[in-house]
Amino acid sequence: MRGEILADSTLPLRPANLVFGEGDIDCSVLFIGEAPGAEEDKLVRPFVGRSGKLLDKMIESVGWKREQVYITNIVKRRPPDNRDPLPTEIEAYKPYLAKQIEIINPKVIATLGRFSMNYFLPEAKITRDQNKIFEVKNSTYKILPLFHPAAVLRGTVPVSEYEVSFKKLKQALVGVSHSAKASRDGLVPGWGPF
Ligand code: URA
Repeated sequence: MRGEILADSTLPLRPANLVFGEGDIDCSVLFIGEAPGAEEDKLVRPFVGRSGKLLDKMIESVGWKREQVYITNIVKRRPPDNRDPLPTEIEAYKPYLAKQIEIINPKVIATLGRFSMNYFLPEAKITRDQNKIFEVKNSTYKILPLFHPAAVLRGTVPVSEYEVSFKKLKQALVGVSHSAKASRDGLVPGWGPF
């Protein structure tokens, strides 16, 4: 799929580097951020700057390693000057994110920040709905909206509160069956609000 994205000349934000995503495709938890920043563009890896370091710390706080989850973004190239991704950019990369989700078939999608949250839950509000587990109709995964790590770095959200949200991830995993391999060849039945 990486080759397919590289070859897609209709995609916006070229010629910035393609930051596809990384991690274990057999994982239960998929983290989805907004778009790569400067550091991510430079190293061609998601969440490797200051936000990434905090994300790693939070993942480790619940006893996991970064390599055991999968991390990607809704928009896979860096918007200039780190501006917010535009609706047209989110739309353009949508088929590729949908395919990634289909292949990974996670139990829980942890969205990081409001753009990623609103991709799945258009009506949700980050301060009201973060840290709540959402079941998505006709989909095999649950959504747990989380604040973006940058909000914690800015001091808007206390680290202690953020740690509690990551504990909720473990709770969200309870009682969901996972058959990533079995479903990999077939289509996941329905894409929720896509
Ligand atoms: N912020 C994001 O949303 N994604 C990254 O990959 C890095 C910072």
